[in-house]
Amino acid sequence: MILLDGKKTAEQIQGEIAQVVQQRKSSGKKIPHLAAVLVGDNPASKTYVTSKVKTCEKVGFNSSLVQLASDITQSELIDQVIRLNSNPDIDGYIVQLPLPKHISERKIIEAIHPSKDVDGFHPVNVGKMALNLPGFISATPFGILQLIKRYKIPTEGKHCVVIGRSNIVGSPMSILMARNEYPGNCTVTLCHSRSKNLPEITRSADILIAAIGKTDFVTADMVKEGVVVIDVGINRVSSTETKSGYKLKGDVKFDEVSGKCAYITPVPGGVGPMTITALLQNTLLATEQLHD
Ligand code: NDP
Repeated sequence: MILLDGKKTAEQIQGEIAQVVQQRKSSGKKIPHLAAVLVGDNPASKTYVTSKVKTCEKVGFNSSLVQLASDITQSELIDQVIRLNSNPDIDGYIVQLPLPKHISERKIIEAIHPSKDVDGFHPVNVGKMALNLPGFISATPFGILQLIKRYKIPTEGKHCVVIGRSNIVGSPMSILMARNEYPGNCTVTLCHSRSKNLPEITRSADILIAAIGKTDFVTADMVKEGVVVIDVGINRVSSTETKSGYKLKGDVKFDEVSGKCAYITPVPGGVGPMTITALLQNTLLATEQLHD
């Protein structure tokens, strides 16, 4: 079994990004600037946003954190988004999800200008991804593709089973793995909560991508020998062993599944760091497209 080390791979890519930033600096080009909008004080969202901002600093990007109260109205948030769209110093920005219930996530995403939508959630970018046109691929699927690429995992002709059909992970992942390029050219099955005979389907997977949000959902009896497992799940389970009082666990029961795998991502240290790095890559791309 080979561990797909997302942390190490992310650090390599971040090193490459830092070099590009250094070159941009010395040739007087614009330094990428990522802004993150955080509404309210959801602890998980706060952790994600802080980590994104910190990673920006690590590679030499400029970053801004726009922190807003949870009772902000939808139209006030849209005004904020419009200001970011027209701010020439901000090359890309994200609005951290989930948003408070009284705000429509769809309306906010649609207000983000597609050229600054480095999360790749805007319908224009989703459409471009589906048509295999240049645009922003949402960060988690983009990060997974790069992990597969860096480990040179063969994908052509393989059966890829994706569990979960969310707009940000499962659905784009299924489209990307079916594309006529590497990584891709898979025969893809997309499963969800209404799928019947799930273990039968997952047992036929050469590549299994789990994006469900349920701790230890995928067990050893659900996979075949030699499978490649990508565990996207990030689930907080309470623990007396950590200072924070919780541990992060994936959607895959790692201890029993890993023994059957050719490759598997750990949680934490697998898809998570790749997602943040993919966001930085999208921001660099946005800067190049807007300023070079
Ligand atoms: P969603 O809750 O939006 O989607 C979960 C999907 O899983 C749904 O499509 C749902 O089906 C499906 N599902 C739920 N229960 C079952 C079941 N019993 N059998 C089959 N399918 C099921 O989650 P996200 O896609 O946003 O996130 C998934 C996980 O990935 C979470 O743990 C999240 O924290 C993590 N995540 C990690 C990231 C990273 O950087 N590593 C980034 C983003 C997410 P249905 O559509 O029918 O309801």
